[in-house]
Amino acid sequence: MKFGTKAIHAGIEPDPSTGAIMTPIYQTSTYVQASPGDHKGFEYSRSGNPTRDALQKNLAALENGTHGLCFGSGLAAIDAVIKLLSPGDEVISTNDLYGGTYRIFTKIFEKYGIKFHFIGMGEAANIEKYINSNTKLIWVETPTNPMMNIIDIKAVARISKKHEVLLAVDNTFATPYLQTPLDLGADIIMHSITKYLGGHSDVIMGALIVKDKKLADELAFIQNSCGAVTGPQDCFLVLRGIKTLHIRMQRHCENGKAVAQYLVKHPKVDKVYWPGFESHPNHSIAAEQMRDFGGMISFTLKGNDRQESFRVMERFHFFSLAESLGGVESLANHPATMTHASIPKKEREKIGLSDSLIRLSVGIENIEDLIEDLEQALG
Ligand SMILES: *Cc1c(COP(=O)(O)O)cnc(C)c1O
Repeated sequence: MKFGTKAIHAGIEPDPSTGAIMTPIYQTSTYVQASPGDHKGFEYSRSGNPTRDALQKNLAALENGTHGLCFGSGLAAIDAVIKLLSPGDEVISTNDLYGGTYRIFTKIFEKYGIKFHFIGMGEAANIEKYINSNTKLIWVETPTNPMMNIIDIKAVARISKKHEVLLAVDNTFATPYLQTPLDLGADIIMHSITKYLGGHSDVIMGALIVKDKKLADELAFIQNSCGAVTGPQDCFLVLRGIKTLHIRMQRHCENGKAVAQYLVKHPKVDKVYWPGFESHPNHSIAAEQMRDFGGMISFTLKGNDRQESFRVMERFHFFSLAESLGGVESLANHPATMTHASIPKKEREKIGLSDSLIRLSVGIENIEDLIEDLEQALG
């Protein structure tokens, strides 16, 4: 099955009792047994629910994995991955990553004795300097949020395999339409489904996808034991959203490219961060491991004036000023005060996240309207 067909059909069977083509919302906590232990595969909805099951199978197919697991948010999915570890274990993570990921690593898990190293992974070889006998996991986000850096997943996977360390990739920005890290050697894919997979800004959800039965069992044990599961209504909405993932992504990429090319020529714009530019430091890796370059773009203004970037954002009509990304509607965000405020200013500046940086999630509206909106807001 090719991607667009998987998006619509994988894991989804017409309802066996009625033939309903859409997966029913099994709004139930429990399931009646004929005799103790004699059930139809479901006992209690924390452990398993048919609507969630369909979504988990669909996600596994999209990422070329074997097992999918859904959680109440992207962060709950990250939480489950770190719970594979024990006190004393060490994690090597990208230094330019989602603010909430940085927060759960440093503010929650460091106090349980897990050590995190935040490093630049533009050169994958840099990782080896930080590997020791306690290293258990490498955490990669690519493209990174919000600096749009690209990390060579294959090169990192060679290192993780050599040292027998797990490699997890946060694939939220790329989605499986653009990149499938399990194919490049990753062990765990993490998604904030809230973003492109849900795609309509109406659900908070996360997921993990793996292709190893033992790892799937360990994560399913954590999912059930800790209980950060998602409800069947939300699973239904995401199943519906995913049916158009491929056409939405195609348009996000087209519009993203047009916006990036517009911004880079604008006299008031200083830097534009988008992996589709040949001048992007890791453009060739992006071109190799991604099928297109996506609709996420960050840019700074000449003079690096925070107030001026605020004024630009206040003037937007179609780019709504809001956290989050990946929905059909275009959004603008000021990372330094919004999504990345939990990263200390000193750390932000180290990675080039300046106070005038604006991050755009380019939606699937008409591109002429979007360019006109940028024109008047920057003007
Ligand atoms: C939003 C986001 C998360 C966190 O997901 P939630 O669903 O908000 O918990 C993690 N990683 C990235 C890249 C994100 O954009």
